[in-house]
Amino acid sequence: MTYTVAVRELCEFTAKQGDLDLRFTPAPTALEGIAGHGVVASRKAPGYRAEVPLAGRYKTLQVRGRADGVDPALQRLDEVKTFKGRLDRQPASHRHLHWAQARIYGWLVCQQETWSHVDLALVYFDIGTQQETVFTERHSAAALLQHFEAQCERFLAWAEAQSAHRAARDAALTALTFPFGDFRAGQRALAQAVYRATTSGRCLLAQAPTGIGKTMGTLFPVLKAAPAQRLDKVFFLAAKTSGRQTALDALARLDEANAPLPLPLRVLELVARDKACEHPDKACHGASCPLAQGFYDRLPAARAAALHITGTGTSPHTGLVALHQAQVRETALAHQVCPYYLSQELARWADVVVGDYNYYFDMGGLLAGLTQANQWRVALLVDEAHNLVERGRKMYTAELRPESLAQARKSPTARGYPAVKKALDKVRRHWAALNKAQTCAYAVLETFPDKLLAALQQCGGTLSDHFAEHPIEPDAALQSFYFDALHMLRMAELLDDHSLVDLTLPATPSRPYGNGSGSNSGTITNASIKGGASTLCVRNVVPAPFLRPRMLAAHTCTLFSATLQPAPYYADLLGLPETHVWVDVPAPFKAAQLQVSVARHISTRYPHRKASLGPIVELMASQFNTRPGNYLAFFSSYDYLQQVADLLEQRYPQLPQCRQSRRMLEAEQRQFLARFTDTSQSIGFAVLGGAFAEGIDLPGQRLIGAFLSTLGLPQINPVNEQIRRRMQAMFGAGYDYTYLYPGLQKVVQAAGRVIRTPQDQGVVHLMDDRYGQAQIRALLPAWWGL
Ligand code: SF4
Repeated sequence: MTYTVAVRELCEFTAKQGDLDLRFTPAPTALEGIAGHGVVASRKAPGYRAEVPLAGRYKTLQVRGRADGVDPALQRLDEVKTFKGRLDRQPASHRHLHWAQARIYGWLVCQQETWSHVDLALVYFDIGTQQETVFTERHSAAALLQHFEAQCERFLAWAEAQSAHRAARDAALTALTFPFGDFRAGQRALAQAVYRATTSGRCLLAQAPTGIGKTMGTLFPVLKAAPAQRLDKVFFLAAKTSGRQTALDALARLDEANAPLPLPLRVLELVARDKACEHPDKACHGASCPLAQGFYDRLPAARAAALHITGTGTSPHTGLVALHQAQVRETALAHQVCPYYLSQELARWADVVVGDYNYYFDMGGLLAGLTQANQWRVALLVDEAHNLVERGRKMYTAELRPESLAQARKSPTARGYPAVKKALDKVRRHWAALNKAQTCAYAVLETFPDKLLAALQQCGGTLSDHFAEHPIEPDAALQSFYFDALHMLRMAELLDDHSLVDLTLPATPSRPYGNGSGSNSGTITNASIKGGASTLCVRNVVPAPFLRPRMLAAHTCTLFSATLQPAPYYADLLGLPETHVWVDVPAPFKAAQLQVSVARHISTRYPHRKASLGPIVELMASQFNTRPGNYLAFFSSYDYLQQVADLLEQRYPQLPQCRQSRRMLEAEQRQFLARFTDTSQSIGFAVLGGAFAEGIDLPGQRLIGAFLSTLGLPQINPVNEQIRRRMQAMFGAGYDYTYLYPGLQKVVQAAGRVIRTPQDQGVVHLMDDRYGQAQIRALLPAWWGL
């Protein structure tokens, strides 16, 4: 079996050595890199060829890539690298890797052009000065062939192990049977839709109710279809830790159920750096962290051990390889390498990767980058996909806060280097001019202000040069501002209808002024307008243009959740391809299981909140007295929650209750949920859209009812009103896309906590008269029978 490898991948495997060094050094952006390569090529004589595809073979290994430039007249091959800062500070390991690549290309071009020798040139192009520094070597074709074969031989055993693993994996997946005998009601329909989408290479938007086993219902068909579709990887992406754990458990269950047949599947869990780091007090380079020192020298052994591959390239282990956080940590520590960066290396060799959305959808997402570089065929499974709207917005929003600039200006570097101080001062001047011109608390600008943009660009360049010149003088405040500024510049460059540019003056806490969660409150006073500094934001409101290319880069993509209604809203905001398929899997529950009541005598509109407290408390107490047990009561803000809970406590002190509080730690959240047992009785107060409103499972007597106050509508404030206008302009549905759909999505998610299995019985109280309206009812699950 032939194994194909890119030149870069081959050299990274065989020629990387020394320390892991992630000390911040300014690097050219992708656009700067492309432009730099263009400048180098444009300076060449006629006949020079850029981006020359080359390929060669060694035994069962196919090596391919694109050489940056070939000059047939001079019999010369260029390997071009763009850089910023000082070339003499470049680590020796980087130069070593660059020469290894050039020599591989050298043999490939000698073979193709039947040259007996070639001049190899490493061309370092300085983005700042546009100058080239060139190192050349002359090699005979025979010597380069020797080098090529030696590199290939070092990779061959690994490649053969990979090919054998892939063959065994695909054979096992072809024979794989569903682990639970039969599908649950609804699960089969979901699995069939996912299978069809995978085999036809399409995108699927799947609404499927809780309790049918969505995770297994999506993982199983994708894995089953993987061999015929020649899938390299499956990425299971989730917004929350609980979603990732469910996926890891499902994969373990598949393996158990497949016994005694082996299931050779490598399952990698990616966790955030702060959860995997062994030395949070250190920096990621060899001089600071012992697990970064000599990382690449010890990586081959750690990688082989993690994947159970022996020195000869064979794998005695034939079953599932669980590369969960604990296992990766154990292997990493046994080999004295960093667990976090080991897990990133293992992403290249895993079959299923389970991680957060940002590993694929974020601007610099690791998995998206690897997919593109290696031309992988991947299947994406996006769990609880309704979250991707907000998460996508956050990924592509950039914010500059005045305090970030103030701290940068006070930093030791700014005090010690006049050029840095001057550049920061210029940003401050143009920012202050904007503040001066601002007459209201919140202002949306037509476009990014020219003068501030120019000042930020200049400041970015100055800081970039400074960091390149002084790499060993870390300055946290300055770096933090620099990263914020870079992100802002990138988003300003990409500015279009999908985002707003706005300026917000600081708020004082007396009148609500936030995003609708109730946690952001304050008033803009004239004093704050005069004296305050604004926060500048490029606020993404439609992440579709950024998410869509990522979906198109995958062979297939399934986005699933219990609440994806109405589908066009999600298709528009997430940028689903026009060919996407929609499936709405019917719930396996009956209307008789859930008694849904609308409290038409209660209005929770903002001006009526105070008057609503008494009726809400009476309704809750009456329900609890009729059927004592465990209930969750959801409110649109902590303030509202607090007022109702206080009044309930005052009127019914004997009624047990517990309350969600702001910024609860994970352990506190577990404690909160642990109170809900089969025998306990209490009302838990929680916020809509919060940690207890989705992704938690309290079956049977652990939860017998829910109270839902308000329609979950985001607060009407200047930001949301601007979003509404933009949604109206883009989709003709301003109110629905900004308020109604996001609000009811939260309500349905929260109510979905009550019925988890076909045996559960429960009640839901919708506490607002607007639930009586036909338009609102149409957005609630049909099986409720309202
Ligand atoms: S252990 Fe922590 S500090 Fe060390 S390299 Fe890993 S992530 Fe960086």
